Amino acid sequence: MSYAVIGHPIGHSISPLIHTMLYEYYGLDEKYTSIDIPPEHLREVFEEKLSTLKGFNVTIPHKRDVFNLVDSLDGYAQRVGAVNTVKCDGRKTKGYNTDGDGFIRALKRYSGNAVGADVVIIGAGGAAVSVAVKLSDEGAGSVTVLARDIKKAENICSKLDCKAYAGTLDDYRPHGYDIIVNATPVGMHPNEGESCVSLFQSGSIAYDLIYNPYTTAFLEKAQEQGAMAVNGLWMLIYQAFSAFEIWTGISPDEEISLKIFEKAKEVLGL
Ligand code: NAP
Repeated sequence: MSYAVIGHPIGHSISPLIHTMLYEYYGLDEKYTSIDIPPEHLREVFEEKLSTLKGFNVTIPHKRDVFNLVDSLDGYAQRVGAVNTVKCDGRKTKGYNTDGDGFIRALKRYSGNAVGADVVIIGAGGAAVSVAVKLSDEGAGSVTVLARDIKKAENICSKLDCKAYAGTLDDYRPHGYDIIVNATPVGMHPNEGESCVSLFQSGSIAYDLIYNPYTTAFLEKAQEQGAMAVNGLWMLIYQAFSAFEIWTGISPDEEISLKIFEKAKEVLGL
């Protein structure tokens, strides 16, 4: 076992599928497995086992705890305050966060451009922080974060170098934004059919971080009103690609990218 993803629970993760397809495509003799680690055992498993791997991914609920366990941090992960990828080198561990990369690469795939864009993010959890910090780094014109708890939105805004505005969900207006991001779980099972916002400006990009269902109520309403819909599946795939690049130095090409996208859709039943 040379790589792994850790989480609790972990059964649903498609990371093993993505990484195994990449190893096969590039002829790498590596293995990638899922390890379920209850929070109370994280520290001991980290010290005894995980740091002997070449690297590992981190998912819910360990992203913040692993942030505190690694020996060093990449600058972006430091600002986000969470780690989803660890590179191990002779038991020395470095933490990275590739969620923001995944978000931006997927946006570019749909011809979206963050530079100068005015973006509103709905939600202020872990994914919202990753996306907001990356947008700021990429040169967004402004980032507005709207959440149930305005303090969480304000906390994200305090990390940004671009113009940043915090508000509540009631402050949402559809006009004046190039990109509207849903960074809440609203629209996922068991809330399919629900959306935090229902009005969109024609020509804007509606980007839902949710990948299952493929077309959420948020994306359906956006398309009906002339906005471009971007689903979260490419973000999920690209954050895995960024981890693969950190570990191997290889950038997956378009042929394997499309194969993985199709296989992921099939496995997830999308
Ligand atoms: P999180 O840390 O739990 O944050 C969720 C955010 O949504 C919080 O701000 C929460 O508000 C808000 N929220 C929850 N229910 C809500 C409701 N009914 N109305 C309004 N706001 C609500 O979760 P996360 O890790 O940021 O993930 C958010 C979403 O992004 C999930 O659907 C996740 O699957 C998706 N995601 C996708 C990718 C990808 O690669 N495609 C990567 C990461 C995450 P409170 O703080 O007030 O509870």
